[in-house]
Amino acid sequence: MAKESTTNERMEKIVSLTKRRGFIFQSSEIYGGINGFWDYGPLGADLKRNLRDTWWRAMTREREDVLGLDASIILHPAIWKASGHVDTFSDPMSDCLVTKKRFRSDHVELQSGTLYRWTGAQDLSGKSSSEPFSVLLAAGKPPESARKVAQLYYAQRGLETPELLGETTEKLENSRAFNPDNGAQLTDPVPFNLMFHTFVGATAGENDKAYLRPETAQAIFVQFKNVADSTRIKVPFGICQIGKAFRNEVTPRNFTFRSREFEQMELEFFIAPDEAIQLIHGQVAQWSESADLTNPQPDWGWEMWHRYWVKQRTDYYARIGLSAEVLDYYWQTPSELAHYARACVDILFKFPFGTEELEGIAARGDFDLSQHQKHSGKPLEVFDDELRAAAVKLSDEQKTAFIATVVADWEKRQKSTEEATGFAERLLKGFYLPHVIEPSAGLDRLTLAIIANAFTEVEKTDPKGKIETLTVLRFHPRIAPVKVGVFPLLKNKPELVAKARAVYDLLKPYLATFYDDGGSIGKRYARQDEIGTPFCLTIDFDSIGENGPELLDTVTLRHRDDARQERVKISDLLGLLLPQVA
Ligand code: ATP
Repeated sequence: MAKESTTNERMEKIVSLTKRRGFIFQSSEIYGGINGFWDYGPLGADLKRNLRDTWWRAMTREREDVLGLDASIILHPAIWKASGHVDTFSDPMSDCLVTKKRFRSDHVELQSGTLYRWTGAQDLSGKSSSEPFSVLLAAGKPPESARKVAQLYYAQRGLETPELLGETTEKLENSRAFNPDNGAQLTDPVPFNLMFHTFVGATAGENDKAYLRPETAQAIFVQFKNVADSTRIKVPFGICQIGKAFRNEVTPRNFTFRSREFEQMELEFFIAPDEAIQLIHGQVAQWSESADLTNPQPDWGWEMWHRYWVKQRTDYYARIGLSAEVLDYYWQTPSELAHYARACVDILFKFPFGTEELEGIAARGDFDLSQHQKHSGKPLEVFDDELRAAAVKLSDEQKTAFIATVVADWEKRQKSTEEATGFAERLLKGFYLPHVIEPSAGLDRLTLAIIANAFTEVEKTDPKGKIETLTVLRFHPRIAPVKVGVFPLLKNKPELVAKARAVYDLLKPYLATFYDDGGSIGKRYARQDEIGTPFCLTIDFDSIGENGPELLDTVTLRHRDDARQERVKISDLLGLLLPQVA
C-alpha cells in the first residue's frame, strides 16, 4: 500500500534519503557547508550521468540536424556585455533593516496585516533619531511585538531603551516589503548582478576581469559560424551543449533546485526568418491545435518550430519517466516576454515544494546573433541558396512590394523603416541572420525532479505482523543508477557464490550491476528498492542444478515495481535486460 506524506515531510525524507544512500551531499560539509553548492555522491553521479546521456542522445545522436559543442566556462568578457548580462542579468535584493537578513525581493512571500509606522524615537539621555521605520503586524499578533522590533531598530542606531514617536497604523494587503520572520521593513529592492567574476592572468587588474558563465548558450552563439563552416550544415540546424553554469543567486533554496553552481543542457536551434520562408515557399505554415508536429516541414516558420520543440521536449520527459500528469506549462504573457522574444513557455514539474520551472523554451528571434555581430564586428549571416534562387525569380515590382510588406509588418513591432528595409534587401540577396528557438533545461533540477517523482513509500507487514514503511525509488530503468542487483542466496556456499560471481561478470561490462551477499534476500531487495534498482537476480540451489537439470543455469529475476518474479536462463539475461534500459 502506498503511503502519503505531507509536502514538507516528503521533501525532508527525500533530502535525507539522498544523503543516506549517497545521491547528494552538501558541498564542503565537514567545514559547515557552503550555501548553494552541492556534491553528487556515487549514485547521484551515475543518475546525473544517465540523465545527461539521455538528453545528449535525444538532442544530437538520434538527430541529423543537431550538433554538439563543449565550450569553455570562461569566455571573453565582451560576450557578456553583448548578451546584456553585464547590464541586466540581475535579481532585486532587499535586506531586513533589523536582522540584516537578505531576501530576493520578488520572492518574499506576500503578507497582509496592520502596518505600524513611527516617525522616529528618542531616549532618556536626550538622544533621538528622526528616521521613520515601519513594521507589518500579522493579524492576531499583539501590537507590543511590533513595537519591540521597532525598538530594536532604534537601539541599533545608538538609542538606549528607545521611546517610539508618532505612531500611526493602517491596513496593508499583499506586500513583499517586510521580513516575514519579524515584520520589519526591508530596504528598497536594488538590482544585484548574478554573475560571479574572477580575474584572468597574474595582474588581476580591472582589465583582467572575466566572468564564470551564467548560462551555456552564449558560447553556442559565438561559435555558430565555426560550427556551420566546419560542418557545412545548413539552416535549419541546432547546436547543443551541456555544461556548468554559475549564478550568484541571492537566496539559493529548495535543496538543489536553486543552486549557485549548476549544469545546463541547452539547444540553440537556428531557423530561417519567416520572411525567408515566405519568399522560398510562398507561404509560412500556421500553427493550430491540430497541427502535425511529428516531422519538420520546409515551410515551417518560428511558431511551428517553437511548438515542435515543446512537443519534442515533452516526449523526452515521457521517455525518462516524467509523464504528462507531473508536468505543467506556463506560457509567458506578452508583457512578461523579453523585448526580443516572440514566445516563451516554461515546462514545469510538480515538485513537493510547488510547481516550478524545469526548462524554458523561448523563440528569441535573431537577438543573440545580431548582438554578437554588432559587438564583435564579425558577420554572422548565412547565405541561403534556395532563398537567393527564389529572389532572383522576382520582378523589380515584386521585390519592391516584398520590401514594402516587410516594412509594414516590422512597423507593427516598433522597428524602424531603415532596419526593415536593410533586412529585406539582404534577404533578396540570399543573406540573413538565423532566428533561434532555445530549449534550455537544468540538469540538477531534472535530477531532483526525477528523484521526487520516483520517491514512493510502501507499507509492508513483516512475518511477525509488524508494519514497516519502506522506500522505493521508481526510476525508469533507462536512468536508474544501478540496473541489476546480483545476489547469491547464501554467501557461505562456494557453488552459489561462484555462479553469482559468473552472472555478475557477465552483466557488468554492459549494465551497472551491484553484487550483494549481505543479509536476507528480503533485506537485499529492500536495499536495492531504496536506490531504484529495477531488476534483482537471485542465484539459488536450482541455479546450480541441485534440484534437477531443468533449472540449472537459471536465476530468479525480480522486478522492483510489482515484485513479480520469473525464472530466466542466465544465457537469456542480457538479451532480456539490455532493451529495457536502452
Ligand atoms: P528561474 O526563473 O528559476 O531563476 P531562469 O528562468 O532564470 O530560472 P533560465 O535562465 O531560463 O532560468 O535557465 C534555464 C534553466 O537552467 C532553468 O529552466 C533551470 O532548469 C536551470 N537553472 C537556472 N537557474 C538555476 C539555478 N540557480 N539552479 C539550478 N538550475 C537552474
